[in-house]
Amino acid sequence: MQRIGLGYDVHRFAPGRPLVLGGVKIEHDWGLEGHSDADAVLHAVTDAILGALAAGDIGEYFPDSDPKWAGADSAVFVRHALKLAGERRCRVGNCDVTIIAETPLLGPYKQAIRENLAKLLGVDVSAVGVKATTNEGLGSIGRSEGLAAMAAVILTGGR
Ligand code: MG
Repeated sequence: MQRIGLGYDVHRFAPGRPLVLGGVKIEHDWGLEGHSDADAVLHAVTDAILGALAAGDIGEYFPDSDPKWAGADSAVFVRHALKLAGERRCRVGNCDVTIIAETPLLGPYKQAIRENLAKLLGVDVSAVGVKATTNEGLGSIGRSEGLAAMAAVILTGGR
């Protein structure tokens, strides 16, 4: 059996915050505002896995209102979604990510993000795509007020 899931997340830029995408620390003057480490890529991937399971969304499991998740490493969220997948005998077939950001330039980080995601998801790096694009100056992302990430995940196996 194969099931597809989609995830989308957006976070505002904020001063004095780290910028972490796909678990990789990115050099930038601004980080992302959020309750956890605000890793929009891992949040989108978490939602894609949950979506493939039809098991709700990240906010149901890890609400912003819970102080427990303040500053949390978002890998925790991905691992929880993978645990739910494992309980249904599903594993990740492949994962594809698009990051939409005017700044910083993400080209130099794409491979590191791929490798980290592959490790986190327990798949070969050939099963993970990471793409970066700008918003062509349009709208809030175009004005560099924040960035967004989209993810698609195929789960295979299951019952
Ligand atoms: Mg988020």
